[in-house]
Amino acid sequence: MSARILDGKQLAAAARRRIREEVEDLKNTRGVVPGLAVLLVGDDPASHSYVRGKERAAAEVGIYSVVERLPADLPQRDLLEKIEAYNADPRIHGILVQLPLPDQISPEAVIAAIRPDKDVDGFHPWNVGQLYSGGEGFVPCTPAGILEMIRSTGEPVAGRHAVVVGRSGIVGRPVAQLLLQENATVTICHSRTRDLAAFTRQADILVAAAGRPGLITGEMVKPGAMVIDVGVNRVDGRLVGDVRFDEVREVAGWLTPVPGGVGPMTITMLLYNTLWSAKRTVNGT
Ligand code: NAD
Repeated sequence: MSARILDGKQLAAAARRRIREEVEDLKNTRGVVPGLAVLLVGDDPASHSYVRGKERAAAEVGIYSVVERLPADLPQRDLLEKIEAYNADPRIHGILVQLPLPDQISPEAVIAAIRPDKDVDGFHPWNVGQLYSGGEGFVPCTPAGILEMIRSTGEPVAGRHAVVVGRSGIVGRPVAQLLLQENATVTICHSRTRDLAAFTRQADILVAAAGRPGLITGEMVKPGAMVIDVGVNRVDGRLVGDVRFDEVREVAGWLTPVPGGVGPMTITMLLYNTLWSAKRTVNGT
C-alpha cells in the first residue's frame, strides 16, 4: 500500500484563492482592507524566513501588511508600546509577534498585551480560554491548518482514535482539543510517555508534533492510518519531519510531506484569521 499524499501546497493555494476573493469583496462592498502587523525582534534566520513567507502570502491575497524588523536588544517596554499603537490602529485587524523572543522580553507579557480581538495567532489567554470552553475566538494557525487538512480528505473523524504526539501550547494541546471537538477519541503522548509505539499503533489519525526527526517509523503506524507530520527539523541543511516518510508511506493511508504539508496551511490560516477579524469589525461583532 502506498499512502495518498496530502498536498499542503495545493490545499493552501485553493484556500488562498477563496480568501483573495473575500478580501476583494470586503474592499469593494465595505471599503475595508484587512490589515496585519507583524513584529519581529532579532536576527534569527528561521524567524526572518517565516516572516518573509507571511508578508508574501498577505500581499498575494490583497491583505495590507506592515512588518517591523526590530533590533535584538529592543527593550520590552518599546515592544509593548508598539503593540499598544497597533491595538489602537483601525487599519490593523491582526497583530502577530514572531516567536521566539530574545531573553529580555517575556513572551507571556507580550502576548497578553495584544488585544484579544486582534490576536490572529490565537495565543492570548482569552482566545486559549475560548478554545477550551467551546466559545468563539481565534484558533492557533497550525492546529487550524491541520484540521483543514484532515477535513479535506473527507474521512470521518468522529469516533476515530486520534493520537497526538506532543503537548505544546501552540500545536499538541490545541490540535488535541480541536479533534476532541470533532468527536474523536483523543490520546496525547509526550516526552514522558512510556512505550510511545503502543499508542501510535492504535491511531486512526496520528499527529506527530514532537520536533524529533524520524521519531515515527513505519512499524509505529497502523495500516491505513492518516499521518500528519507537523515536525520541521533541519538535519544536514535539509528540512525533515518527525515521520520517516519513505517507511510510513508504505503503511499509512494518508500522509503529509515535509516541506509542503502543514507549513503552507499554517500561513493560510493566518490570512484567514486576519480576514475574519476584519469582517468582525465591519459587522460590529
Ligand atoms: P515543543 O518543543 O514546544 O513541544 C514538543 C513536544 O513534543 C513536547 O510536548 C514534548 O513532550 C514532546 N516530545 C518531545 N520528544 C518526544 C518523544 N521522543 N516522544 C514523545 N513526545 C516527545 O515544539 P512545538 O512548538 O510544539 O513544535 C513541534 C514541532 O512542530 C517542531 O518540529 C516545530 O518546528 C514544528 N512546528 C511546525 C509548524 C508548521 O507550521 N509546520 C508550526 C509550529 C511548529
